[in-house]
Amino acid sequence: MQRDGDPDPNEPADGPRQTGVIVLGAGWAGLAAAVELTAAGHPPLVIEAAPHPGGRAKGLSIPLAGTRRELDNGQHLLIGAYRQWLKLASTVGARQQQDFERMPMHLLGATGLSLRSARLPAPWHLLGALLGARGLPWRERWAVAALMMRLRLSGWQVPAGETVETLLERLGQPATLRSRLWHPLVLATMNTHPSAACAQTFANVLRDSLGGEANAADFILPSRTLSQVFPEHAARWLQNHGASLLCGVTVRSLQQTQGQWQVQTTAGRWLADQVVIALPAHASARLIAPLSGVHPGLAEVATALARFEYDSIATIYLAWPAGSISQLPRCLMLDEGPDTPGQWLFDRGVHGQERIAAVVVSLGGNVEEFESDKLAAQVAQQLVAQLSLPVPLDAKAVIDRRATFRCTPDRPKIRADALASPYGPGSNPMLERLTLAGDYVYPDYPATLESAVRSGIAAAARVLASN
Ligand SMILES: Cc1cc2nc3c(=O)[nH]c(=O)nc-3n(C[C@H](O)[C@H](O)[C@H](O)COP(=O)(O)OP(=O)(O)OC[C@H]3O[C@@H](n4cnc5c(N)ncnc54)[C@H](O)[C@@H]3O)c2cc1C
Repeated sequence: MQRDGDPDPNEPADGPRQTGVIVLGAGWAGLAAAVELTAAGHPPLVIEAAPHPGGRAKGLSIPLAGTRRELDNGQHLLIGAYRQWLKLASTVGARQQQDFERMPMHLLGATGLSLRSARLPAPWHLLGALLGARGLPWRERWAVAALMMRLRLSGWQVPAGETVETLLERLGQPATLRSRLWHPLVLATMNTHPSAACAQTFANVLRDSLGGEANAADFILPSRTLSQVFPEHAARWLQNHGASLLCGVTVRSLQQTQGQWQVQTTAGRWLADQVVIALPAHASARLIAPLSGVHPGLAEVATALARFEYDSIATIYLAWPAGSISQLPRCLMLDEGPDTPGQWLFDRGVHGQERIAAVVVSLGGNVEEFESDKLAAQVAQQLVAQLSLPVPLDAKAVIDRRATFRCTPDRPKIRADALASPYGPGSNPMLERLTLAGDYVYPDYPATLESAVRSGIAAAARVLASN
């Protein structure tokens, strides 16, 4: 068995390969870091364990109604506030219409609620939405407006440690409004139950979406698989601009050797001047903990990284004969209850002879309680009962057990320079050349594609600053 540090059979006879910057992980954070570095003239080597880039947001081939369908590992919704992603997507050649659809926010509920952004400048777009809302009593419309006004007046700041549920109670949100509007929104944006979710992070989300410019709350829905929306464009762009992407190669360890970082992988060793670790927090913790022998300050960061907890998400894909359903809403809030677990429904269009929908269920941390076939059957029954749809031909659940970090007020707050020496730049040059990226490295936001991208951009800026 080969041990870390042993010469590797895959490696050239003259030892580890040399390179400038290595990015570990090709999720949306690693890809964003790599694109930024390449654009600045420092094309990196990107090493990814999976056969394809994209991490938690990529395409997946799923057997459904007797045929393999090109769908996703999980249904995603992006919004207009994902400005850094929109900019990066445009750089690498992703295009609206071809790759994704953009439409004004329309919160449509199976219970009759309809709240559609008005085509007016902010904040009138929200006022227009409330005035034109359906299925929302006037008292609840006023409560929504009052909550937004009070948060704005407080500079979008809430008491430290407050949960969303406490915030909603403190700002007088009626129980029916909480269950029909706020709870589904909290689950969609934070994937954490409102009783545990961080109110400050939710306030940040509201500030940048409903409280932002009129188009910040736009819905952006992939028209193709998630891989085709961004990771494949980014991978092609990187290769055309001198960067290298190595998929199917797992990083095993990171060591400091003679003023460089040595990355040990399943395909040999590399020596690099700079390393960006764009892995999930638990994987980053495993890589960093052994370095604390040489850099004692890293022990604390590794412990913080290992402290993140996770919530799961199930995406249930359902197929019907295309002719049996004339239309499905593009995006619909379902009526969730004890035996009706579906929270959001998305139309995935017609694939061959079938119409396909995706239903999202935030499972929290109790994923062991859920059996995927039973969950798929429950969601199928829910759609028949709540939307009068025919019984689907097939329903399959895809469960991601570590979909997002649990976004509680006391979660670890990690920044791109978390690994830097506390004694300032220059005191430990090796640590200036080691940087973290990942959705958890943007503490303002919950785990989202935008936080992953922003963390990647911040990581690239740090690499460039210390070059
Ligand atoms: C089902 C689901 C639904 C979601 N819905 C939404 C949504 O609607 N909107 C939204 O904005 N966000 C959503 N998210 C969250 C979003 O997908 C993540 O926040 C984002 O993809 C995280 O990107 P990342 O690059 O930080 O991490 P990751 O995507 O986890 O990337 C890390 C990469 O590192 C690789 N890796 C791990 N270990 C190693 C190793 N040892 N060597 C080499 N490579 C390694 C992994 O294979 C992976 O590619 C959802 C997530 C899931 C799972």
